[in-house]
Amino acid sequence: MSGHRRIGFYPGSFDPVTYGHLDIITRAARLVDVLVVAVGQHHAKPGLLTVEERLRVLEEALRPIREHAECEIRLAKYSVLTVEAAKRAGASVIIRGLRDGSDFDYEVRMAQTNATLDPDIETIFLAASPSARMISSTLIRQIAEMGGDIGQFVPMEAAEAVRRALKAKKSFSGAHADTE
Ligand code: ADP
Repeated sequence: MSGHRRIGFYPGSFDPVTYGHLDIITRAARLVDVLVVAVGQHHAKPGLLTVEERLRVLEEALRPIREHAECEIRLAKYSVLTVEAAKRAGASVIIRGLRDGSDFDYEVRMAQTNATLDPDIETIFLAASPSARMISSTLIRQIAEMGGDIGQFVPMEAAEAVRRALKAKKSFSGAHADTE
């Protein structure tokens, strides 16, 4: 189909974006003409960074990748079902990363559910690169919360945003404790 641009949709929480995510983005960008990196908003799961902060950090982190990618990389946020958001973006594939067996079980179930909801959208999985396999945003938040250095797992903008968010959270709960 000449003239047809293949659009890929990479959804996630990106709270914060890690080198693991950036590895998937770099590799997915070689497979599609347009890659939409989309931050899902869950009202039940507010997370550490606000969706706007996650997008701002992603914007910075994507700059060097965009310079070298032949594919157009867009950023988006969504609060509807992932397949619905992918369809609205005009995507034919959803891209997900696979780290280990627990990712596999969850992701395959998710992919099958999404395929049932919309058979026109295919999910493809990219195996995590060995160097980034152990990185998860959850672990990053926990390390940072315990005062550890997250600089080797996330880009600088992400580390700064996490540090700022944790500081704000601490001073909020500190102020709270004082008034009780
Ligand atoms: P979600 O809440 O949707 O799982 P995440 O931001 O945690 O959002 O992850 C988004 C996607 O990126 C998922 O498919 C996840 O498996 C993948 N991913 C996360 N960390 C890594 C990593 N270190 N290497 C490869 N893929 C990863």
